[in-house]
Amino acid sequence: MRPEFATLKNHPDVSVLIVGGGINGIGLFNELALQGIDVMLVEKTDFCAGTSSAMTRVIHGGLRYLENAEFRLVHESLRERNRLLRNAPHCVKPLPTTIPIFNWTSGMVGGIRNLLNWPAKPGNRGALLIKTGLTMYDCLAGRKSPMPRHRFRFRKAALALRPALNPGILCTATYYDARITYPERLCLELVQDAEAACPQARAMTYVRLQSAKRGTVVLRDEVTGETCEVKPKIVVNASGAWIDGTNQAIGRASQYIGGTKGSHVVLDHPELAAATGDDMIYFVNQDGRICIFYVVHGKVIAGATDIPTEDPEAACDEGEVDYILRAMSQAFPSIKVDRSHVVFRFCGVRPLPRSNALTPGQISRDHSFPALPAGNGIDFPIYSLVGGKWTTFRSLAEQVSNELLRVLGRKRVRSSADLPIGGGKGYPRLPVGTGLPQERIEALHDRFGTVADRVAAYMKAGPDAPLAHHAGYSRREIEYMALNERVVHLDDLIMRRTLIGILGELTLPLLNELADVVSPVLQWSKEKTAAEIERTVQLYKKVHGVTLAA
Ligand SMILES: Cc1cc2nc3c(=O)[nH]c(=O)nc-3n(C[C@H](O)[C@H](O)[C@H](O)COP(=O)(O)OP(=O)(O)OC[C@H]3O[C@@H](n4cnc5c(N)ncnc54)[C@H](O)[C@@H]3O)c2cc1C
Repeated sequence: MRPEFATLKNHPDVSVLIVGGGINGIGLFNELALQGIDVMLVEKTDFCAGTSSAMTRVIHGGLRYLENAEFRLVHESLRERNRLLRNAPHCVKPLPTTIPIFNWTSGMVGGIRNLLNWPAKPGNRGALLIKTGLTMYDCLAGRKSPMPRHRFRFRKAALALRPALNPGILCTATYYDARITYPERLCLELVQDAEAACPQARAMTYVRLQSAKRGTVVLRDEVTGETCEVKPKIVVNASGAWIDGTNQAIGRASQYIGGTKGSHVVLDHPELAAATGDDMIYFVNQDGRICIFYVVHGKVIAGATDIPTEDPEAACDEGEVDYILRAMSQAFPSIKVDRSHVVFRFCGVRPLPRSNALTPGQISRDHSFPALPAGNGIDFPIYSLVGGKWTTFRSLAEQVSNELLRVLGRKRVRSSADLPIGGGKGYPRLPVGTGLPQERIEALHDRFGTVADRVAAYMKAGPDAPLAHHAGYSRREIEYMALNERVVHLDDLIMRRTLIGILGELTLPLLNELADVVSPVLQWSKEKTAAEIERTVQLYKKVHGVTLAA
């Protein structure tokens, strides 16, 4: 039995059980741990392996939500964006965003209709509408916003800066949001901070909520197949697109979710990367949907689609790849982009509220947490975390925890509003006296923030060498992750502790080398190691559309 599972079995009483280790479950776990609450989080796969890792990786106010007159949501999101820039500076960084604009007045009628609550399908957005939206965006960000205000460039200046841009543009507008370099690592850091803050806070991966009866919830260890029972006072269903299925498993049917799937592709295309530059390009497609693309470590990430689905595990399909490639060709018509450039694809399902909006883009991205009171054979209330965005996880957690503290008769003792997260503490302190080359120190700092000094010390404590098949990582750095970062399967490491997966950098030799480094640390047998390699190969093929190259 895994030791953490034995602990669950031996201590079944818990005030709050959170089901789901995406950003919303983890945000709440952190918030409750800060208040000293005994809280347990179970995640059926790895932390941040669901929708939370399929995001566009932008921490943003939601410029587009202004069209739906969601001023409060935009204000809240901008406030949280600014907080994340302060509290997680190691992985949330400013991102200039450029919108190519093709005419003056398009979209004004639709914009006015939306403001009057008489929704119209979105179409092209002209310069006047975008100017109005960006002026509001800057105002809502507040006078203390750390970001510069937006600016317009007329055609000649815009094309001088970005010559490959569609020559049909009238002008461009550039405003600022933020990118998150490692959302998966930030989730892990929030878990680690929570457990350090409160000894009664426990989070476990590869544990699934299986069923419930009266005051008892049955959990299943997905690694060993064992089960155990826990007795929570409150259950929080933070299982995202799976929310209704989870409530069903508990025996309390709900119909909260009307999910939409969103896909991205990752392209290895140096010419496109150079044309995109340092900005995110925010391109309005002819159907009115927004397609974005920007460069991450030399690769171009492009997406996302927005298609209604009932399947929480939907994958990116060929039609979506075509759609995204077409959008890029419209933005940069002189650059040839095709499937041969696609090195990875990923998809997630937004846990949006059920809605009868005209288009998926018009469904609100705001959050709510409806409660099912105790009853119907179940002795605890269930709160479901519906909707929301990555950006606003902290404010959702704060609101839900206020309600749970009220129910538990406890008082708030700490606020997370100004609390640095993980490697954001003491940032930008760099490791000193490591003897490592400067570029390695910078790479560690980029990945771990101020925790880089701990990683560097571990690397120095034994014989080390760069990976033969990826010089950006060393053997002992990978060992450090396997030992200290809750790696259960090889794909946890490849997809969520490093960017190797998402950047499409994995090859068969690299996979074998990573397995070779990890297996002695995690005490895997030869058979187990071979099974882990095969699991990753299949995951790549089935979910990410990639057959690994030798
Ligand atoms: C394409 C796309 C792009 C996006 N881009 C952005 C963006 O740039 N910025 C932004 O702010 N937001 C963005 N979002 C929105 C954001 O990603 C989501 O709102 C957020 O990640 C939802 O998090 P969650 O924790 O609710 O769900 P999830 O991350 O899906 O977490 C739910 C977890 O519950 C687990 N689970 C399910 N059933 C069980 C069970 N029975 N037992 C235990 N565990 C269970 C699942 O395995 C899963 O890990 C985007 C969303 C999509 C789809």
